[in-house]
Amino acid sequence: MKIGLEIHVQLPTQSKMFCPCPTGAVGPNTAVCPTCLGMPGSRPSLNRSALEMGLKLAQLFKCRIPEKTWFSRKTYFYPDLAKHFQITQFDNPIGENGVFDFRGKSIRIRRVHLEEDPGSIKRVGRPGQELSLVDYNRSGIPLVEIVTEPDLSDPTEARQFLSDMLTEIRHIINLTEESEQSVRVDCNISVGKERVEVKNVTGLKNMERALKFEAVRQSKLLRAHHPVLRETRRYDEERRVTVATRKKEFEEDYGYIGEPDLGVFNVLEIAASLEVTETPLARAKRLARQYGISETTSRQMVNTSMKLCDLFEELAERTDTDTALRWTGTVTASWSSIKNMLDEEMRDSVISTVERFHRQEINDTECRLQLAKLFGEKVQEPSETGLDEAIEQAIERNPGIFEDYTKNERAANRLIGEVIRETAGTYSSQEIVLKVRERLERGR
Ligand SMILES: [Zn+2]
Repeated sequence: MKIGLEIHVQLPTQSKMFCPCPTGAVGPNTAVCPTCLGMPGSRPSLNRSALEMGLKLAQLFKCRIPEKTWFSRKTYFYPDLAKHFQITQFDNPIGENGVFDFRGKSIRIRRVHLEEDPGSIKRVGRPGQELSLVDYNRSGIPLVEIVTEPDLSDPTEARQFLSDMLTEIRHIINLTEESEQSVRVDCNISVGKERVEVKNVTGLKNMERALKFEAVRQSKLLRAHHPVLRETRRYDEERRVTVATRKKEFEEDYGYIGEPDLGVFNVLEIAASLEVTETPLARAKRLARQYGISETTSRQMVNTSMKLCDLFEELAERTDTDTALRWTGTVTASWSSIKNMLDEEMRDSVISTVERFHRQEINDTECRLQLAKLFGEKVQEPSETGLDEAIEQAIERNPGIFEDYTKNERAANRLIGEVIRETAGTYSSQEIVLKVRERLERGR
């Protein structure tokens, strides 16, 4: 089975791709102007930040970036496309021949290009009396399209791949959660020789379902010696099936022509001036390699927060990997309450506390307590009498313990376990073991 994806991601710009209309409008047809309505005489001008975001992604996928690029008009008629052509890139896209390293497998990226979204159509009314309403707020919203080669081999792998890719994209262009869920994918899938395209599937889950349905459908046809038609299908989310829509058209059917109103852009020069920072998955790989920790651990760390990774690296440098890993874990446990608070001051305090532990100026109990206090957690202060009391209470709950202990010393473990649970990390386990044994030795 071969699967290739055409992934459309909305670029999180403030304004549309070729006009100053805002991208976050609510209420149908409230963010429109002559340009995104395609009125005669209107002129597009390119949103520089959309171009920069696209170039950063082309760099992320290690694409070849051409010296110059331009846009094209893709001509077709549909009511959501007011000017009867979509501005997109046909020849010389902003990136070609890239690669995405997916868990040790190289998925080739054929091209990355920019294009505008058309408007959206909503059908209302009872069956048989439906009306189609069109909203042009989406007309001219910037999209990046990422086209992979058919290097994916099953639907689950395709979902994991897209999920990993979105993790990286999110970091590079500050993708919001909504735009991540609204990612649209055209999936090409062939079980035998002929390829079927399932157009416009929204979201990762639907994509996996559509691909699974299509894999089963094509396999059944082939087993029965029926041909699989080369066609375009759509995914019906409610019935969870793919449905034939039309025979596949070829790119030349669209009659691409160069867009004369926008001109030529020196993208190689622009790309060189952009900074692409280390992405989460690249960092997870580096952390695993550099510190000898498992990739599961390092992926968990980057998925929690890049700030947490900064803390880990700084601790590892000042103490050692084990100490850093252990106390980063403690910080992670409190993460939900402190994620907005891990500012520089807080970070410095965490680091100096762990350093004192590393120099053996404080023990692990003290270190844990001091960190908990930093994070504003309610803590039970350890005290001599506190631990003694907890032990006495545990003895009361286990009246036969002295007798059991005289028969077998291992009976102490029962009491130790209870005291550890009851005092919930206020005392170190060594201290508890010592005290419990002392008390049992003393007898009733
Ligand atoms: Zn506009």
